[in-house]
Parts: sequence; structure tokens; C-alpha cells
Amino acid sequence: MPSVYIKTYGCQMNERDSEAVAAQLLAKGYSLAASEHVADVVLLNTCSVRDNAEQKAINKMENIAGDIRKNRPGVVLGFLGCMAQSRGKELIDRLPDVDLVIGTQKFHRTAEYLDEILKGKRDKIVDTAEEQGSEGTIREHLLNGNATKSVTAFVSIMQGCNQYCTFCIVPYTRGEERSRSIEDIVAECRQLVGQGVKEITLLGQIVTSYGRRGDVWTAAASEARRRFSTDNAADTKAPSPLRSAGALQKTPFVQLIEAVHEIEGLERIRFTSPHPKGYGDDLVEAYGRLPKLVEHGHLPVQSGSDRVLKLMHRGYTRARFLEIIGKLRAVRPGIGITSDIIVGFPGETEEDFKQTLSLVDEVEFDNAYLFKYSPRKDTPAAAMLDQLPEELIEERHARLLDRVNEIGRRKYEAFIGRQVQILVEGPSKKNEARVMGHTRCNKIVLFDGSERHRGQIMDVRVTRTGSFTLYGDPAIVNL
Ligand code: SAM
Repeated sequence: MPSVYIKTYGCQMNERDSEAVAAQLLAKGYSLAASEHVADVVLLNTCSVRDNAEQKAINKMENIAGDIRKNRPGVVLGFLGCMAQSRGKELIDRLPDVDLVIGTQKFHRTAEYLDEILKGKRDKIVDTAEEQGSEGTIREHLLNGNATKSVTAFVSIMQGCNQYCTFCIVPYTRGEERSRSIEDIVAECRQLVGQGVKEITLLGQIVTSYGRRGDVWTAAASEARRRFSTDNAADTKAPSPLRSAGALQKTPFVQLIEAVHEIEGLERIRFTSPHPKGYGDDLVEAYGRLPKLVEHGHLPVQSGSDRVLKLMHRGYTRARFLEIIGKLRAVRPGIGITSDIIVGFPGETEEDFKQTLSLVDEVEFDNAYLFKYSPRKDTPAAAMLDQLPEELIEERHARLLDRVNEIGRRKYEAFIGRQVQILVEGPSKKNEARVMGHTRCNKIVLFDGSERHRGQIMDVRVTRTGSFTLYGDPAIVNL
């Protein structure tokens, strides 16, 4: 059987999709190749969020086509994922060596399409159509039967996005929100915990919107009605769990966290990526009462200016964002807060940008990912007239990066001498003599250790810091 090499660009969702495609191909008898130079099939799983991510994948394919295809004409080349979805056949027009283009709702067809191409039944295949009953597609992402050696795992809970932020291509590349059922997700998590997984990250484009559409929401609504109908009879016809009674109501996302929390042997729960709008009081309260939910929140703020937030269609104000951060820090002091920020959104004035700088000062993020605004095809922001010049975006990006790094450095240095709890994930990629883990508030920690530490929850005393990294020694318990 042929061997396949899959290279992934972009987010954890894409990593997860690549794992699922690899599992699907392994099940059909393919082997995994160590590099594109020895593979019979080369697949690039792509990202579209910014233009440079697209260019990287296109350049890579150009090199592969020019280099590898020249010597081994039988190699099959394919694009998968977000850029494949948004560009479709255009990719083959531009790179005629490409045989296969598979969109985000068709990953589960990869083996079938490769088979047709390898057997010479079809020459080129482009499939970016929507999949009917796409929850089934998500089910294909399960890695059933493929035991993991890792102590951490990602579990896809939903796909797609209905937020339509004006800068973002995701609703167009990933389609409408679709959620798996709580039972399905819990069953997958149980299976992973049975294989030794101790930390699960619930994954989705906007995880806090989990279950708001379709069956999960309806099931959650009837459960909430059943629970609260005796409290307030007038509210029992309310269509959503949030409105169905006087007591604090729970969104399907919080109900899902509660269900996963009950799994014995699971030590930590994380999730990514959420939307600040999704941090209602029920989620904040969950941080206060569910010990497995770690002290970390990634809240992509995008801008500190209300004017820009409105143009972006973010659905919250600066004041509301600060209120959420205050509430989270009140229920979980020491919680790690990280964010995404876009610099140079169309029409961003110096005053707007200063609002972002002052928000960063006020919140003191543990880290923030800064993105230079990149116009995306068919998004409303790309058509806005006042696009900023590249040099101005570069200059603001550098100013903001200095500020974020300076705050991060101070925050990380404050850990020196302190004891932190980490889950040891395995050897460090750069230095085999060291092992790596994350604190509950999501900071990377390295210390001299070995394979026997993998999977252990350990206390480590921090001795020094590097760039967004802590170094330490296993703590000695004083009796
Ligand atoms: N859940 C996140 C949210 O609340 O919007 C979206 C995750 S998105 C895949 C990752 C990040 O990419 C966004 O938070 C945003 O900062 C950045 N991003 C998205 N579209 C962008 C664009 N057109 N230009 C620059 N950065 C962008």
C-alpha cells in the first residue's frame, strides 16, 4: 500500500483533522511517511485565516511539484482543509500538478478519492461541497481503535461558526455551526482517559457556542425545563435553557463541561477557542466550582476600541470584556488570561490603537497572539474603503508586541521561587534530557527529567524564565 505524508498549517482544529485523515488512511492500509521526499501521496492541510498562511502552503506545493514530482511523476499531490474549501478548483488551475482538492466537510472522503486517483479511475478531484447531515462528518474525526500514547488529547465538540465577524473567513470555510451530542463527546473522552489521557482540551471554532443550534440545544432546553419547571411555571415554555427559570441557567457548553468533569481519572479540562460573548455567569461560576477546569482562559479581544469592536461585529464592548476578566479573576485568583488581538483593522485610528494599548496595560495578559490584519476574500472588512498601509500596521504591531512581551516577562518572572503544578507531557522537543509540561494556568515548564515522569502531576519549583517559558526543579516536600 502507498505511504502518505500530511503537513498541517494553522490551528489545533486543523491538527485534529490531519490526525483523523491519517487514522482513516492507516485503517485502509496506508503507511505514514517521514517526509514528502519518500511519500507516495503528499497532502497539505491548509489554513485560510491570514494570507501568509495560504501563501506558505502554496509555496510549499510549488516546491514539491517542481522538485519531487519531477523525479517521481507518480506521486499524488493534494490540498485539504480551509484554503482548499475557499479556493477550490482555482488551486488546480494555478498548480496543474495538484490532483486532489478536498474541502472542510469532506475529509472523510480522502481515502476513497485517493483510491480512485491511484487506480487511474479519475484524474483530478475537487470536492468542496457541503455535506448533508454533517454531524456524521464530525463523527469521522474520532480516532477509534487508534490508541494514543499522549497524556493530553484534543476532542472536537463542534465545527463551523455563525459569528460572522467582519474580518473572518472561518464561517465561509468551515460552514454553519454543528455540534456533537454530549453522550458522544463523553464516550470519546472516557475512551481517551482509559488509554491514559489525563488532560482533555475541548475543541471547536467557537466552543462557547456549543449546542446552541440543533438537537443539543433542544435536548439541553428540555432538560433545563424539566429541572426548573417547579421553580417557575410561567417560564417553562421558554425556548432556551437560559430563559427557562429564575435560578442561574446553564448553557449546553457548561452542561458539557459538567458531564466531562464527572469522568473518573480525568485530571484537567481545557477548551479552545471560545468567544468572549460566551463567558456568561454560568461559565464564570463553573470555574469557581469545577476543580478539573483549569485556571486558564483564552479570550480573544481583537481590539480595545469600542468603535473598532463594533465594526468587527464582535458583540461586546471594552467595558463588558473587562467585566468578564474581573469576574474570572474573582472566582479564580491567578487565572492565566491570554488573548488574540488584530492590529490594523480597516479604519483603525491612532486613538483606536491607543485604546488597545491601554486595554493590554489594564488586563495584563499572560500572553497575547498579535495578528496583522489580513484582508480575506468575501469578508465585509476586505471591502471597507479605509484599509491601512502595511508600514503603519507593521509599526503598530511592533509597538504592541513590545508591550505584550514586557508584561509577559514581568508576569513570568513573578513565578521565580514559586511552586507550580504541572502535568508532564514528555521529553522536550529541543532537549531530550528535559521534560515538558504545562501549569494549570497554561504556562510551559521545563525541568531535567526522564520518560518515567510522563503522565505524572508534579510540583515544580520555578528557578528561572525564558521567553514565555518557566524552568524549574521538582519541588522537594518539606515534612
Ligand atoms: N474564536 C476566535 C474568536 O473569538 O474570534 C477565533 C479564532 S481565529 C481562527 C484565530 C485568530 O485569528 C482570531 O482570534 C483573530 O485574532 C485572527 N484572525 C482572524 N481573521 C483574521 C484576519 N483577517 N486578519 C488577521 N487576523 C485574523
